[in-house]
Amino acid sequence: MASVLVFLDVPALPLPRAARELLTLARTVGEPVVAAAHRAEPAMLEALAANGAVKVYEPAGELDTVLVAAKAAFLADAANAEQPAAILLGNSFEDREIAARAGIKLGSGVITDAVAVAPDLAVTKSVLAGSYTSTCRVRTGTPIITVKANSVEPAPEVPATSLERVEVPLSAAGPAARVTGRSGKRVSGRPELAEARVIVAGGRGMDGDFGPVEELADLLGGAVGASRAATDAGWIEHSAQVGQTGKTVSPQLYISAGISGAIQQKAGMQTAKVIVAVNKDADAPVFEIADFGIVGDVFSVLPQAAEEIRKRRA
Ligand SMILES: Cc1cc2nc3c(=O)[nH]c(=O)nc-3n(C[C@H](O)[C@H](O)[C@H](O)COP(=O)(O)OP(=O)(O)OC[C@H]3O[C@@H](n4cnc5c(N)ncnc54)[C@H](O)[C@@H]3O)c2cc1C
Repeated sequence: MASVLVFLDVPALPLPRAARELLTLARTVGEPVVAAAHRAEPAMLEALAANGAVKVYEPAGELDTVLVAAKAAFLADAANAEQPAAILLGNSFEDREIAARAGIKLGSGVITDAVAVAPDLAVTKSVLAGSYTSTCRVRTGTPIITVKANSVEPAPEVPATSLERVEVPLSAAGPAARVTGRSGKRVSGRPELAEARVIVAGGRGMDGDFGPVEELADLLGGAVGASRAATDAGWIEHSAQVGQTGKTVSPQLYISAGISGAIQQKAGMQTAKVIVAVNKDADAPVFEIADFGIVGDVFSVLPQAAEEIRKRRA
């Protein structure tokens, strides 16, 4: 059976849901083989095997202090050694850059923003700011595909078998740039926006107060998102921005609060499974794509929803 190379940049367990999704997808196409950006501890190897991986390529040195170029070079070297039928990555900014750089090194076509990959490697993705869904296929080289989080349901774990480990020597040239320091992001305890199954997002209608959005997100175990109007106003950090120039998300539930639904916002969220929109303007464009719409004031609707959830849980 042909192998499918999955690039994973996971320094420590637990294996994130997005990684398990990629391994699940790989199993529908061929035999999952991992290109791991970090040398794997025994427990990590066990977790990879339990998710179907049969082989893991690891860098001979540390890739932690380098920028994407070295990771792309490692992935391309692993691909040259493995000759897989396809290469899968996540869809973060970094993963997409690694895919692009590896594509150049391998002379391969790259498809980003995939939401499904068929066993014959036909890829489904949304295009033109999410207005259309298209099916496409890489015609040159090994298909390199970046897949949006929440596109597939992770398969149950299988009994782990022993993994073959292959060491990939690092490029002799060394990296052109090196990370010299890191500072931790404030820990919110909320899930990562791009991977969250529930997102509550606020826009200009929140008028500077994201409290009701955060309260509802926390009750639902979700992440907080925002429109560009809200992040530009400084009401919430830029990393929360959803849309064409922000993050592309595909949660099970996206609650849009006080967001008009401009095309650039829709581009990042309209593949959500269920969209609930709260807006005081019944003609707001967001209602065109909402599964459930509430015409009302966010400062009344969101606290009521939070209260109802609390009551039902009591
Ligand atoms: C190149 C480019 C890239 C862009 N990228 C992005 C992007 O990535 N993401 C993004 O979001 N935007 C992006 N934008 C901006 C986008 O065009 C819109 O300007 C932006 O999405 C508007 O944000 P908003 O819906 O919060 O604000 P508005 O359009 O001002 O809408 C606010 C909404 O809140 C409602 N409202 C107000 N008060 C209340 C209340 N009390 N209760 C209920 N509803 C209320 C109003 O009826 C209105 O519909 C981009 C624009 C360009 C040109």
